[in-house]
Amino acid sequence: MLQEVVRVIREGDERGNGMIVRFPFPSGLEIVGLATKNFYGGDWDFGPSWNYLVYADQTFLVDTGRVGMGAALIEMLDIAGVSLADIDSLIVSHGHEDHDGGLCEVATATGAKVRAHQIYERLIRFFPDQAPADVRKDFPASCWHCFMPESFSNEHCLAYHQARNRLQVETVGDGAGSLCEGVRAVHLPGHSPDALAVLVGEEAILLGDTVLPEITPFPTREAFSDPVREILPPAYSSPDSVYGLRAYIRSLKRLDEIARQIPEALALPAHRLFYNRGWNELDLRARIDQILDHHIQRSAHILEILKGGPRTVRELAVEHFPASALEGVGILMGENEIISHCELLFAAGDVGPVDNETYSATGSTHFESLIRSLGSEQGDMTGSGRAGHPF
Ligand SMILES: [Zn+2]
Ligand SMILES: [Zn+2]
Repeated sequence: MLQEVVRVIREGDERGNGMIVRFPFPSGLEIVGLATKNFYGGDWDFGPSWNYLVYADQTFLVDTGRVGMGAALIEMLDIAGVSLADIDSLIVSHGHEDHDGGLCEVATATGAKVRAHQIYERLIRFFPDQAPADVRKDFPASCWHCFMPESFSNEHCLAYHQARNRLQVETVGDGAGSLCEGVRAVHLPGHSPDALAVLVGEEAILLGDTVLPEITPFPTREAFSDPVREILPPAYSSPDSVYGLRAYIRSLKRLDEIARQIPEALALPAHRLFYNRGWNELDLRARIDQILDHHIQRSAHILEILKGGPRTVRELAVEHFPASALEGVGILMGENEIISHCELLFAAGDVGPVDNETYSATGSTHFESLIRSLGSEQGDMTGSGRAGHPF
């Protein structure tokens, strides 16, 4: 399907950086894909950010690339023959810097309104009086849990956060109505609390980072909900409602149900649509199954290690991941993965805390039935509201 529909407007490099493509659907719908450069390297390279312009009832652009890519994206839109004045809105798939980094530049250049989930609208703001004592008060609520080094955030994030805080955001998703005729935003939290997928009729699903080919999106941690509980609307106050692996898995199940209803829809991911000189066509339901299985395997391996005795998060990361994955910021990403999975294992009753960075196995193995039960009609095994993080 993908390769039958896609038309290349401009070639990119072997990873797809700089690539511009069109998807002219038989119905007349047209989507333009624009791949802007990302900078992560090594084992954690996601490839470029894929931003999508949709000519629907209204013309809108989903995502704007990472910080510094706004001007390049505007130039790419021009090459694709898009008139900037025709863009009605900019939709944020989720508040990660590689997707909304160019937002202020593109909003200024186009005059288009910004639309995002209401969690995004809250978290981009600064709340110096409500920020916990141990976080930087010159950062917005979205970053209170950030585990990247300060040198990184000073270089890449500070100015962007200040500019982002000045944006007016119209909130969408969660039944807030269709974006325009035939287009709907669906809230799929977990990788990010504000993550949206955009459904364009029965023809396309723009996935953001919720499902990607080749790589498994990293989950957030339930513990991230603690500092922002007062900031978010009350509907999102339970720790696993929009953060952590349980929230993410519920979103995968919801997306699977959507994919079941519109099996012909072309699934367009925000990374790796094209990578290593080739297209990655997504069979969405099969890919969701693979990702669920990946989390079951990862949980099983962590539990296996813990059966040998208590381990710190760092020790678990070192035993679980290959050394090459833990170089540089890889160790922080690896620890994040471990903690997300330990939170789920804790919610299942399979691990307990020894101290605030050490886990031990309890002897039970309930995690797989928990994962299978999440988001099911019978209800979750743990229900929503029980904290997964013990510390
Ligand atoms: Zn992301
Ligand atoms: Zn991303």
